[in-house]
Amino acid sequence: MPAVNKDRLQEKIHCFAQFGAEEHGGITRLSLSPAALAARTELTKRCHALGLFVETDDIGNIYATKTGTETLPRIAMGSHIDSVINGGNYDGTLGVLTALEVVETLVRENISTRHPVTVMVWTNEEGARFAPAMMASGVLTGKFSKDAMLAVQDEDGVSFGQALLAGDCLGKTDNRLNPQDYLAYLELHVEQGPVLANENLTIGVVRGVVGMCNYTVTAHGQANHAGTTPMQERKDALYAASQCVCTLYERLGRIDPDLVFTFGHIACRPNIHTIIPDEVRFSLDARHQEPAILQEVVKIVRALPAQTANCAISVEEAWSRKSTLFDPKLVALVKKNADALGFPNRHLYSGAGHDAQYVQDILPSAMIFVPSEGGLSHCAKENTSIDDCICGADVLLHTLLDLDAEDTSIRDRYLSVGE
Ligand SMILES: [Zn+2]
Repeated sequence: MPAVNKDRLQEKIHCFAQFGAEEHGGITRLSLSPAALAARTELTKRCHALGLFVETDDIGNIYATKTGTETLPRIAMGSHIDSVINGGNYDGTLGVLTALEVVETLVRENISTRHPVTVMVWTNEEGARFAPAMMASGVLTGKFSKDAMLAVQDEDGVSFGQALLAGDCLGKTDNRLNPQDYLAYLELHVEQGPVLANENLTIGVVRGVVGMCNYTVTAHGQANHAGTTPMQERKDALYAASQCVCTLYERLGRIDPDLVFTFGHIACRPNIHTIIPDEVRFSLDARHQEPAILQEVVKIVRALPAQTANCAISVEEAWSRKSTLFDPKLVALVKKNADALGFPNRHLYSGAGHDAQYVQDILPSAMIFVPSEGGLSHCAKENTSIDDCICGADVLLHTLLDLDAEDTSIRDRYLSVGE
């Protein structure tokens, strides 16, 4: 049975950890920075050495393709190689390097596939230099306008478009991940949470990415003197806001055990110790995989009384993101292979966003998670043992081979839905 090579994958991880390496571990490899460009160059060099055909699209995504034996759509696998400031060596990078290792295994062991196989690198997944996150996959799937994204500037006033041009990363629109040219997309990623590590599991079979809703609640009071205003005459916006938080905490907590919600930001005006607060606003971030549960959240937030503690209450939606469910057939293939290889695994949902969740809108997609030690990510301590990395890469390899052996019905289903 074909298997990826531990020494080779280890060497790749070590090599890419140099690009943007920080003194105390981890990396800072902001999108299109010199460190990220060096990592892209190294990846391209390695792909050429394996005989792959390397293309770049009009937003800087890299596609390195090994030809298939038949004229069929490609199967894509990959992730991102940019990081946040003081990020870890595995977030994104491991998805690219395991995809590369899978293709290297095919090349070195003379395993031919019917479909061409493409290693993908997404530009600017983190959004740490150019906001928003998942920018390039968002453009490809119609969520963001390309022109608006090219104009986005970093802190130094350099636009994303200028950085693409300066880094020689601007390719052709024709090279994009077009649904008619691809069969499916697979992304391996570190979990970035504690579930797999806590349960001593090796593989997370990702069902989807949780949806979220964000609301701003504002209590409108009346500023007045802290010493001269009797308690019963006050319109204290902070008191009203805190009553709203308590009500929401209690009501939202009863909906579903998987629902997570956070009141992470609060702004008190004028925020001076001798003045009764005039206006207090706070944020609510709620996440769950089921749209119906998030609708319950919305109902409860909207049902806050218009008047509390002598203050008017207003509720505004800040933004929301729908849940993504990955392709059930692909998810089942990942599960089948994790089981067949004897790797302890479970289904889970991702609480973090990934390019695959956008790609799923145009192409059958799935994700494979490997454990994050201590549940840590976006920091220097981010780590996944090489043995877990190998298990993930083997699941990726065998899922790819299963897909290759299938007909194109999985993709045709999508194309007909899209019409
Ligand atoms: Zn990532």
